[in-house]
Amino acid sequence: MRTVLIALVVAAAALAAVLVGRTLMLAPYQPPPADAAPSSAFDADAIANHLAETVRIRTISWQDGAPAEDIAASHAAFAALRDWIATTYPNVAKTMTREIVAEHSLLFTWTGSDPTLKPALLMAHSDVVPVVPGSEDKWTHPPFAGVVKDGHIWGRGTMDVKSGIVGMLEAAEHLIAKGHQPKRTIMFAFGHDEEIGGREGNATIAALLADRKVELEFVNDEGGMITTGVMAGITAPVALLGVAEKGSVTLELTAKSAGGHSSAPVPVGDTAIGRLARAIVRLESSPFESGFDDTTRREIELIAPAMPFLQRLAAANLWLLEPIVVRAMTANAGSAALVHTTIAPTVIAGGVKDNVLPPEAKARINFRIHPRDTVQGVEAKVRTALADLDIEVKATQGGRDPSPISDVEGPQFALIKRAVEAVRPGVIVVPHLVGGGTDSRHYFGLTKNVFRMIPNDVTPQDLERFHGTDERISVESMRRIADYYLTLMTTME
Ligand SMILES: [Zn+2]
Repeated sequence: MRTVLIALVVAAAALAAVLVGRTLMLAPYQPPPADAAPSSAFDADAIANHLAETVRIRTISWQDGAPAEDIAASHAAFAALRDWIATTYPNVAKTMTREIVAEHSLLFTWTGSDPTLKPALLMAHSDVVPVVPGSEDKWTHPPFAGVVKDGHIWGRGTMDVKSGIVGMLEAAEHLIAKGHQPKRTIMFAFGHDEEIGGREGNATIAALLADRKVELEFVNDEGGMITTGVMAGITAPVALLGVAEKGSVTLELTAKSAGGHSSAPVPVGDTAIGRLARAIVRLESSPFESGFDDTTRREIELIAPAMPFLQRLAAANLWLLEPIVVRAMTANAGSAALVHTTIAPTVIAGGVKDNVLPPEAKARINFRIHPRDTVQGVEAKVRTALADLDIEVKATQGGRDPSPISDVEGPQFALIKRAVEAVRPGVIVVPHLVGGGTDSRHYFGLTKNVFRMIPNDVTPQDLERFHGTDERISVESMRRIADYYLTLMTTME
């Protein structure tokens, strides 16, 4: 007995030594020296004012069914933005070919000196989401006033994502003025309907390029950014470079039952609303499989040096502790989306009157699909889970499978990584699975290298500003984005 105990203690000590040893072998993150701020090619105030001007041009993309006058105003705004680009960036207008596609999307082509090289495509959409009616007076500055104050540019579209458009155009304008011509052709695609599904703008541009037999070297779109303080215990800035995006599908559940007067209900649990409620509860309590894919495992390993000791110990020893880390991430709403397919009931409807049983109740459940699952698989799992409840399950329009995963070892990932590091000393660049969808998905047929990074610097509080109240970007971030594009444009081979 004693020998067994001693053997166990020795084994435990050896294991602890291995775990700690592996942790200590990771050189801890070193913040950059205070004077490491990189020089910029740009005048921050001038760029901030340019972004502010674009905010005042209300390029809202409306869902079908919006009032005709709102739609007309947006048509005029997209035309105004086009003119604004032509006047504000005369060198771009003179040098690049501009094509207007699907009415309001723009494709700029800056022809490179070496026609044998495949073009690079840089993307940012020009449309913005509306402001929720009634929330206007909660804004510190009116959402479309384009105010520059307190070190920020305020207004709808500053984060999402006119800062990308302005950044690209500033960089190109600057380079053309200096007589620069890229070796590789560079294209800019500014879609006008990303916020309502992007079925026209970039879909049409991609089809156009496919028609012309264009193959792209790489695509870079929105979807990745620099976060600070978003992950518990980590103070280092982390750039989440999107290498894949989750899929999405919305399933509509319908429960039917005999209607009638509420004084004579159908058996308990068999009312339409009761059954629908049970179906939703059942789905929410049978989550999808959780676990790391290669992208997230790599992400955790790369961030590890910047983690506090215990987290670092876990991240440095995923060979043993991965299940514990996955469980912890699944339990946290912020990180759960990275490890599994999420389930979100978003709409419910049924019944119109207190004393009438509805013959039908409906709910919509939105699933964001992890790369290990598919639209078909999600639908099948839901059907199986609800098989005994007599619920109709129907997929709504617009479902899409998770994207392919771009190569993190290739030169294109490295190019973007270096450009981010050049403008943000001390940043940790990691591959990331993007939760939302972007227009870049239209280009999977033209290149395997689709990335998502516009290096806006955000904190947890900033994340609520996306599509929300008080959307803003710091003047420093805006300038950094322009420097980032300048670096990309001058360092791509
Ligand atoms: Zn966006």
